[in-house]
Amino acid sequence: MTTPLRVRFAPSPTGSLHVGGARTALFNWLAARHAKGTFILRMEDTDRERSTPESEAEILRVLQWLGLDWDEGPFRQSDRDDLYRDCIGRLKEAGVVYAAWETAEELDAMRAEARANKQAPVVRGRRDWTAEEIAGFEAEGRTPVWRFAVPLPGETAIEDMIRGTVTFDHAQIEDFVVARSDGTPTYNLAAAVDDMDMGINRVIRGEDHLSNTPKQMLVIRALGAEPPQYAHVPLILGTDKKRLSKRHGAASVEELEADGFLPQPVRNALVLLGWSYDDKTTTFTLEELIEKFDVTRVSKSPAVFDLKKLEVMSGRYLRALDPDQFADDLMGFLESSEYLADKGDSAADLARRSAPLVQRKLSRLNEYDRLAGWMFRPLAFEDDAWAFLAGDVKHAIQSIGGGLGRIEVLDEFTVENIKDALSDQLHVLGMTAREFLEPQRIAITGTTISTGIYESLELIGRDEAVARYRSTLGRLAESWQGGDA
Ligand code: GLU
Repeated sequence: MTTPLRVRFAPSPTGSLHVGGARTALFNWLAARHAKGTFILRMEDTDRERSTPESEAEILRVLQWLGLDWDEGPFRQSDRDDLYRDCIGRLKEAGVVYAAWETAEELDAMRAEARANKQAPVVRGRRDWTAEEIAGFEAEGRTPVWRFAVPLPGETAIEDMIRGTVTFDHAQIEDFVVARSDGTPTYNLAAAVDDMDMGINRVIRGEDHLSNTPKQMLVIRALGAEPPQYAHVPLILGTDKKRLSKRHGAASVEELEADGFLPQPVRNALVLLGWSYDDKTTTFTLEELIEKFDVTRVSKSPAVFDLKKLEVMSGRYLRALDPDQFADDLMGFLESSEYLADKGDSAADLARRSAPLVQRKLSRLNEYDRLAGWMFRPLAFEDDAWAFLAGDVKHAIQSIGGGLGRIEVLDEFTVENIKDALSDQLHVLGMTAREFLEPQRIAITGTTISTGIYESLELIGRDEAVARYRSTLGRLAESWQGGDA
């Protein structure tokens, strides 16, 4: 029987969860669920200045939104100081770390000298201070940091599950700091100790951590344990092939959520950042992902995050949803974005009833206002919509007046009846569909892009429809008299 898989996601709570971090979380979660292993959540908050409880809460919320539940944790590095100090003590006893007294200026000079000699600017602290020198430093109030004595000559090889064997010559690895002068652990010490202590046997993380890996492996081995397996996932670029950032639009999951993307298409887009199942499948349910995910199929080459592709996936997903589910998701989005908050008592009812009118037209839920926002506002004309009517006032009055005459006498105000009546009037007037219907749309919505005209009329009901037609006709008459046309 093989050892059960234990993986972790270890964000630093210094901001919101970015696309890259979310992908790392998803890959780890999928690896755990696929192997029926354990997914551990660990907050790497050793940077006390930049870590905040708000960021931690936001990361947890976003993971939940994505559906990534954890089995252990969240652990916080700030609660585990005793363990780190204990391990630093063990490293001191084993003689693999040394007190380094160099000042920042001395370190800079050391690096500059190495560069001048065409050598890698790696720091090696002096280890032959005399007792008098040390006494002098202490009298000055200097406290040392503790550096790991990287064994020379030597090398550390990572058998990476994605990148294959990656070998680091120790000559290129500086004697990295494990404990700061106040005794607190550095990131490399804390991460290595945690992975060891938490029994993590596979580390899936961003390629930007590759150069930390040999350092963490050295620490783990010096503490008498075996390092985990590593899988370094590729960088994420924007469509311009530059590293993904705000410039490319939403770069955090929180922003994607606010833009009206649902968790399923977001997960789908995230998983395709480096991973693929075959050349053709681009949509997976969560169950399919759990069944198919395999970290060894992640590519080494950088992945491109394309918001347009996410929009396409999202539109496809929304259209395929069961209508009731779509309505629930839409209402959830409108509530969480407080869209309906200032729109009156009947707004929620109207919004729910409008769901079938927008389901096929949205690629993300925040386009709702563009299509259906008119329902919640008194009639007001967008510039291009008014220009369309005002371009030929006589024609506009004729079509809108003709439409009004037909719909105000309908017994049953249903989509079929409205459609029949308006189609008939269109023929009576001998106009094309666009010539006749566009003014109807503008008369009730004030816009040129909206929900479908017949369905919109049915939704707002005859009284409201008639009132809007009349108000439009009134304004057209005014502009006619005012010589606007
Ligand atoms: N805390 C690190 C980060 O947010 C992750 C370290 C790791 O996964 O080992 O980049």
